[in-house]
Amino acid sequence: IPVLSLVPSNHGSCLLGASCIPVLSLVPSNHGSCLLGASCIPVLSLVPSNHGSCLLGASCIPVLSLVPSSHGSCLLGGSCIPVLSLVPSNHGSCLLGASCIPVLSLVPSNHGSCLLGASCIPVLSLVPSNHGSCLLGASCIPVLSLVPSNHGSCLLGASCIPVLLPLLVLFLLSVSRSPGASLLQWPPQLPPTSALWDPLAPLLLLGWFTLHAFLYLLPLGKVSEGLVLKNGTRLKYPINGFHALVISVGLLLLLLWLGVPLGSLFDLLLPLAVCATGLSFLLSFYLYISSFWAPPHALAPGGNTGNPLYDFFIGRELNPRIGNFDLKYFCELRPGLIGWVVVNLGMLMKEVELRDGASLAMLLVNGFQLLYVADALWNEEAVLTTMDIVHDGFGFMLAFGDLAWVPFAYSLQASFLVVHPVELGAAAATAIVLLNGIGYYIFRKSNSQKNVFRRDPKHPSVSSLETIATATGKRLLVSGWWGLVRHPNYLGDLLMALAWSLPCGFSHLLPYFYVGYFTVLLVHREARDERQCRAKYGQAWDAYCQRVPYRIFPYLY
Ligand code: NDP
Repeated sequence: IPVLSLVPSNHGSCLLGASCIPVLSLVPSNHGSCLLGASCIPVLSLVPSNHGSCLLGASCIPVLSLVPSSHGSCLLGGSCIPVLSLVPSNHGSCLLGASCIPVLSLVPSNHGSCLLGASCIPVLSLVPSNHGSCLLGASCIPVLSLVPSNHGSCLLGASCIPVLLPLLVLFLLSVSRSPGASLLQWPPQLPPTSALWDPLAPLLLLGWFTLHAFLYLLPLGKVSEGLVLKNGTRLKYPINGFHALVISVGLLLLLLWLGVPLGSLFDLLLPLAVCATGLSFLLSFYLYISSFWAPPHALAPGGNTGNPLYDFFIGRELNPRIGNFDLKYFCELRPGLIGWVVVNLGMLMKEVELRDGASLAMLLVNGFQLLYVADALWNEEAVLTTMDIVHDGFGFMLAFGDLAWVPFAYSLQASFLVVHPVELGAAAATAIVLLNGIGYYIFRKSNSQKNVFRRDPKHPSVSSLETIATATGKRLLVSGWWGLVRHPNYLGDLLMALAWSLPCGFSHLLPYFYVGYFTVLLVHREARDERQCRAKYGQAWDAYCQRVPYRIFPYLY
């Protein structure tokens, strides 16, 4: 059963230990720092210690909330409903406040740091930064965990995520196919263990990975260089992801023509998700252990804290490779992302089996998400300049996100529609297509504008844009898309996310899980990027922020 608890380390810092009952609580250590002790009831709450530090005390109801202490540090207070949320403190530190729905999200603090506030999805995470601000540890997955900060204060970190996230995927999949499809049902709906295994699942998964490893190695498309590394070298990457997509779609059409029942994927989803999770763990263990043989210049800046759980989660090595085979780059855009399209197609075929035809809602969800995946692969080269490739190590966070979270959590709308058909009128469908089109236009144009500018600032399409100089020699765009808000690409992405949920109607919360989760993800990602840019560009970044005051949503945020 899902369990989380904190036990004291030798240094009085905060560690996650397992116990056998679904419980989380904090008890004071001798040093007033934050420890997790087990108690016997499903409860999480923070109570102030004498020293204003963060303690977990037990109470008797399933609850999680943070309330501010007099010192602005992070405290858990009890309330009477299953809830998680963050509200800004006066000092910009990270506090959990109670609200009345099982929820976590990010809201800005006075100091621009990233806080969790109430919104409508069940659970996410807090990871303390060195500067006491609140960060989301996962870039692409919702998370709950405690990790020690440099100041010994109480933080949610990497140890419980690898348990909670796979459970969350299984929970979401299971809810999406249940008649009620209720996220808020208590106790939560979990699949029976008999539904989690099918011997066909590991075979399919292995075959899929082998196919994509083979396609990766095919000498198709061009070879591109990544950004300059710490040791002055640049790695080479094959740009043939779009070829892999086209070949995969061709093979799927061939299978359909041969009469292979792709709709059976619906029945295999849970076992496939279990196997993909198992594979993520195996890969992450391999990555963690092999990273100890990597030279110092090959290590990621954030994944080498010395805390094994945290480093396992974030990833120690920046670009782990076997020969020329780049594991992170391969996982980022191939088996999982293209797997998402295949899962969606399987759901469409299941609908055809059940109802003798595909619904408009299902066609829209499939079409929108296929466009998104095809776009990512068409512009594969752009991934070489993203934070995931340039900055983040390759550990459980990215491995699980790429291989299990993306294909199985991003396809929730399609699996929901199999069991909960929606009749979509022409007017509603047109409005949704328009919304997706606008989102896609903003997303693509802004991403391309920055990519072109970073690769060739003198290119005619960007040479007339207004820029400001930075001490690094690089310039920042302050007009065009990047003069509208500081992350116009996130704005477009979020509009598309909403368009993917709307075909599922308004009867259930589940199809909106993605848009809620994605908002949290991008708000956190934006805050993380801002911190990195401020560290890189100093005053020039402040000038940019003054000139372009909104982060993602014009006049709102
Ligand atoms: P971005 O593409 O937003 O890149 C951020 C970087 O751009 C900064 O670090 C900075 O780097 C540069 N930059 C910022 N402002 C300016 C400016 N004004 N002028 C010039 N350069 C600037 O990063 P992401 O990797 O987060 O996002 C890429 C895309 O991927 C987005 O569209 C996002 O929505 C999408 N995404 C999708 C996810 C999913 O799960 N579907 C997950 C994560 C991202 P520097 O100055 O060093 O060049």
